[in-house]
Amino acid sequence: MIKDNISDVNTRIDKACERSGRDRSRATLIAVSKTKPVDMLKEAYDTGIRDFGENKVQEIMDKYDKLPKDIRWHMIGHLQTNKVKYIADKIYMIHSVDSYKLASEISKYALKAGRVIPVLIEVNVADEESKFGVTFDNAESLIRQIAPLEGIKVTGLMAIAPYTTNPEENREYFARLRQLSVDITSKNIDNISMSVLSMGMTGDYEVAIEEGSTYVRVGTGIFGERNYSV
Ligand SMILES: *Cc1c(COP(=O)(O)O)cnc(C)c1O
Repeated sequence: MIKDNISDVNTRIDKACERSGRDRSRATLIAVSKTKPVDMLKEAYDTGIRDFGENKVQEIMDKYDKLPKDIRWHMIGHLQTNKVKYIADKIYMIHSVDSYKLASEISKYALKAGRVIPVLIEVNVADEESKFGVTFDNAESLIRQIAPLEGIKVTGLMAIAPYTTNPEENREYFARLRQLSVDITSKNIDNISMSVLSMGMTGDYEVAIEEGSTYVRVGTGIFGERNYSV
């Protein structure tokens, strides 16, 4: 079942790339495996998935130990500054940076781990109170603040669009995020790259691809509904 879901999602990504004239190799599927057991991740791994998204530090640590080491773990959820130290040597990329304080903590532990951690700036595209992220207006100044930090490299932007049953409603948010990345690129800020756009989830990833997403984060569409009550 997971195998079929992944193949279906990949076909939809292929088609969205074709529709929008995009190079398929520039769009990567992240399998969002939060709350799901390792045997399900293993099934996805066996079909070729190497990018997994998680939002809890403890869960990343547990799964990291139990699964192959060529997996790229993406931290996609809100990260508390006091937990950065546990994942600095395990995480491939952190998608959810929205404060200087968090960025400087990542910098500190990346240096300890002897590496540079790529991060994305999370933008609260619809100004939703329930969501983390900086506003469109504050993104550039945060990026300028973070740029001089060692051990961390801003490589793009991330957004969680509003929940909707009509993905077309989110098209404008994706387009605006892409425009912001173009604007920031044009400023040529040292140590900043805008090559990554992490946007699109189960309900809207095809529209996100059409608007330029390079990482779609799909959970339910691959692993089925999550059950938080267990
Ligand atoms: C859970 C989650 C996803 C996946 O959501 P689905 O609707 O299940 O595809 C994507 N991005 C983030 C940040 C998440 O927390």
